[in-house]
Amino acid sequence: MTPVTVVTGGSRGIGAATVRQLAAAGHDVLFCYRSDTAAADTVVRDVTATGRRCLAVRADTTNPDQVERLFDAAGELGGPTGLVNNAGVTSPIGPFTDLTVADLRHVVDVNLIGYVLCAQQAARRMPPGGAIVNVSSGAATLGSPGEYVHYAAVKAATDTLTIGLAKELGPRGIRVNAVAPGIIRTEIHASAGQPDRPDRAAAAIPLGRPGEPDEVAAAITWLLGPGASYTTGTVLRVAGGR
Ligand code: NAP
Repeated sequence: MTPVTVVTGGSRGIGAATVRQLAAAGHDVLFCYRSDTAAADTVVRDVTATGRRCLAVRADTTNPDQVERLFDAAGELGGPTGLVNNAGVTSPIGPFTDLTVADLRHVVDVNLIGYVLCAQQAARRMPPGGAIVNVSSGAATLGSPGEYVHYAAVKAATDTLTIGLAKELGPRGIRVNAVAPGIIRTEIHASAGQPDRPDRAAAAIPLGRPGEPDEVAAAITWLLGPGASYTTGTVLRVAGGR
């Protein structure tokens, strides 16, 4: 049976690399994005050219109705067998004392409430053998002082969500894991106001460089595949040793 995997935030960055690698590994893929339709169309075109089925749905993961519609659309591919909770945001980088309530709520909304809403839909619909991967962050254990402590705290919640869901869904044959990337070269840093952050951070990374989206996608793809059949409740760090 062909696996059908839902990827949130699949139009760019780690999500787009994951959509491509999952398709190459034999998954049909449905992904959502929030606003960048041109980027989403490019991913769909690239994947369908390889012969796999790929659909993109414009859906905001913080909106329960849109999340339900996203998972309904997965029914068109045969129903979801996998979920990658990836759509995430940071805030403008800066001291904790400058954090606004609006930025705090947005980070909680997308990175926690969005993950819970998607995991809930997946848990309701997935058959035994299904798998969820939550994209966390190395920030969860580093704390991100002076940058975005609130984001780090929410990513730590992602790790706890992963552990709890692995235990609750394990008896149904559904595995739940997380991947915790370090500093990866994507547009998320420009959105936070520091496009050059990956290169500036290189000196503090044992491997001496930021990571690439494909290096995170490889870990996610492995966790969703048969090679990880006894792996659940774990957080796999992909952070160059940091
Ligand atoms: P990115 O390049 O900024 O891409 C974010 C993706 O998520 C885009 O496809 C975006 O769609 C989508 N998105 C954002 N908010 C959404 C929402 N509410 N509903 C639906 N889609 C939404 O980000 P990235 O760097 O690949 O990050 C992916 C994940 O990795 C995030 O969870 C992030 O916290 C985590 N992470 C990243 C790094 C890093 O250094 N890059 C490190 C650790 C963890 P639109 O373009 O349409 O808005």
